[in-house]
Amino acid sequence: MISIPKGMKDVLPSESYKWQFVEEEFKTIAEKYGYREIRTPMVEATELFARGIGDTTDVVQKEMYSFEKADRSLTLKPEGTAGVVRAFIENKLYAEGLPAKYYYITPCYRYEKMQKGRSREFHQFGIECFGASGMMADAEVILLAYDVLTSLGIDDAKLKINSIGCPNCRAEYRKALQDFLRPNLDKFCDTCRSRFDRNPMRILDCKSSECKELVKGAPVMLDYLDEECRKDFEELKALLDVYGVPYEVDTSIVRGLDYYTKTAFEFVSDKLGAQSTVCGGGRYDKLIEQLGGPDTPGVGFGMGIERLLLVLEESGAEMEADKACDLLICGLGEKARIKALELAKEMREFGLRVIIDVMDRGLKAQFKYADRLNVPYVAVIGDDELSKGVVSLRDMNSSTQEEVPENKLLEAVFTGFLK
Ligand code: ATP
Ligand code: MG
Repeated sequence: MISIPKGMKDVLPSESYKWQFVEEEFKTIAEKYGYREIRTPMVEATELFARGIGDTTDVVQKEMYSFEKADRSLTLKPEGTAGVVRAFIENKLYAEGLPAKYYYITPCYRYEKMQKGRSREFHQFGIECFGASGMMADAEVILLAYDVLTSLGIDDAKLKINSIGCPNCRAEYRKALQDFLRPNLDKFCDTCRSRFDRNPMRILDCKSSECKELVKGAPVMLDYLDEECRKDFEELKALLDVYGVPYEVDTSIVRGLDYYTKTAFEFVSDKLGAQSTVCGGGRYDKLIEQLGGPDTPGVGFGMGIERLLLVLEESGAEMEADKACDLLICGLGEKARIKALELAKEMREFGLRVIIDVMDRGLKAQFKYADRLNVPYVAVIGDDELSKGVVSLRDMNSSTQEEVPENKLLEAVFTGFLK
């Protein structure tokens, strides 16, 4: 027995319709804002993530799925942004006019400890907007994420925003934060202690309740922002007010990846337990340059699809029910079977999802199969129906049956839908 790798999940047909639904919603909304799809490989040079995400982050230090091939180190994407930036630079997309706006749907791989809402293969929707340095872009990116959540019926996800400044103001803050943390350092968890030197701001994001208690009263980045960063943060808040997007300033939002500057935001839901972030994003003004491209600012977000589906499930949101097809056509006898094939072909051309028997089974077995698959209508054609030019159409939900002329079959099924 070979089983699925730990931390990964099959999406079975009984679930995949939910994925299709949220993916469709996301694409439609992203396109409404002028974003276009970009697809980049699942595998990139390890160096891209080490340099892009930052080689002091947990992701790069211990979570990447890396392997060697022909003396090269390659890595399965742990997130979506770095690959998009690489493609942007390599294909000189900056020459096509800015801002450049992309969306993607991608699997990501991180070798993490598994918990509710945390797996080793997960999926992200993401958008990236390259080229705009002003807060109009940040506000639009946040509005788009808000639009996706609300259009899916998630109205209880809270938006938390923060500014983590730029390298200019962060250096001073970092020192102040370390001075605050140092006296109690031995009381923090191992992870936090290991972050003290390389990335002390991440300590503010620790989920352990002891660490949360210990960071109470820590200096906050907002008090250390330089003039430009402070002005930008004020403008962002004003724009969100204009858009009518409710938010809360949360000085503990720092994001896990090194490349962020200024705006950092998260949408959190209390339906997710400790892993409460459905969507995380922010501004990364140095990333494109850092990866060898022209000095170009960027802002974007990544939304976890599994967490989104968890929230939807817990909030009892309704999605169109799972249905394998609209109609099963059953031909009994040589000639009727040919008629069934013809009718199935015709109905499919009109857009109906139709199945016919391919296992040479009798009527009873076919009804049983239709029942199992939740097929709403079964059309039976025997010698009698054939001679009259009708089908016996059974509504599987109400268990009623009536004779319908062949040329009215489509209409009958459609009218049934509207009922
Ligand atoms: P967290 O610490 O909450 O897992 P993160 O800061 O590592 O998040 P990002 O790298 O910003 O997350 O990824 C964006 C989104 O992708 C997250 O908000 C979350 O919805 C989802 N995500 C991240 N890691 C995982 C994971 N291991 N399993 C499932 N979803 C994940
Ligand atoms: Mg993480």
